[in-house]
Amino acid sequence: MLSYQHAYHAGNFADVHKHLTVHAVVDHLLHKAASITFVDTHAGRGLYPLDASETQRLGEYRQGVLPLWEARRGLAEEPLLASWLEAIASVQTDSRRLEQYPGSPWWLGQRLRQDDRLQLFELHPGEHEHLALQRLPANVRRLHADGLAGLLAGLPVATPRLCVLIDPSYERKAEYGEVAETLLTTMRKVRHAVVLVWYPLLPAARHLELLERLRDGGLRKIWRSELTLREPGEERGMYGSGMLVVNPPWGLDERLAAAMARVTPLLGETTRYGGGWWVEE
Ligand code: SAM
Repeated sequence: MLSYQHAYHAGNFADVHKHLTVHAVVDHLLHKAASITFVDTHAGRGLYPLDASETQRLGEYRQGVLPLWEARRGLAEEPLLASWLEAIASVQTDSRRLEQYPGSPWWLGQRLRQDDRLQLFELHPGEHEHLALQRLPANVRRLHADGLAGLLAGLPVATPRLCVLIDPSYERKAEYGEVAETLLTTMRKVRHAVVLVWYPLLPAARHLELLERLRDGGLRKIWRSELTLREPGEERGMYGSGMLVVNPPWGLDERLAAAMARVTPLLGETTRYGGGWWVEE
C-alpha cells in the first residue's frame, strides 16, 4: 500500500540537501564526454507547484527552498548555490517568482546530452500519472514499476557510465535493508557506478541498519553527509536528512561544504551540516 506523496514535502530542507548534492554530482559527471545512464528509482511527480493544496498544507518549503530563494542575490558569489538557484529560476514561468519546485527527474534530466539516458521509476499510480504529464526529452523513459527491481533488471547499462539516485519514502521498515541489498548488487555488477542514496534521520535511527549493512557488505568509497534541523529526540518526526554517495566525484565534499555553510544559517539557528567518509577507499 503506497500512501506517501512527495507533494506534501516538496522543497523542504531534505530536498535542498538531496537536490544540491544531485546537482553537484551531475555537474561533475557532465564535464566528461562519455555518455551516461541516469536511473531515478523513486521519481515522484517531477515538478511541484508550490500553491498545490498538498504542499500548502505543511508548507515545508518555507524552511527549505524559500529562504534560499529570497536570499539569492546575496548568495550569488557561492558557485554551487548560485547555479542551483539559477536552475530553479529557469523552471519558473516568471523567473522573479518561486512558483514551482523541481524534483529529482528534473535535476537528473535537465542537462541530458543526446547519447545520455534517464530512466524514471515510479510505482504509485497517481504519482506516475503526474510524471507522465511532464514534458521531458525523448531520451527519458518513464516506467510505472518497482524502482529497485527495475534498476537491477537493467544492469549492465548500454552507456559507459551509470549514475543512480535511490530516494525511497521508507514507509516500510524493510526498505532500509532492501536499499542496502540493491546497492550492494548494483556495485558488484557496475563497480564504477556513482550511486546516491537518501535516508531520513528519525528518532528510531533505522538508517543505521542501512549504513551498517553497506559497511559489512564490503562496499568501499561511501561518502556521507547529514543536514539536521535539531538534536534527535527533541521532537517526534524527521530531524534530519542523510545522503550517501558511493564513488563520489573528486571535490564534492568541499563544494557541498562551502554551499552548506551558506545554507544552514538560513534554515534555522540549530541547523547543522557535516560530511565525511562512512567507508574510505
Ligand atoms: N525522488 C523524488 C524527488 O527527489 O523529487 C521524491 C521521491 S519520494 C521521496 C518517493 C517516491 O517513491 C514516491 O513518489 C513513491 O510513490 C515512490 N515509490 C514508493 N515505492 C516505490 C517503488 N517500489 N518503486 C518506485 N517508486 C516507488
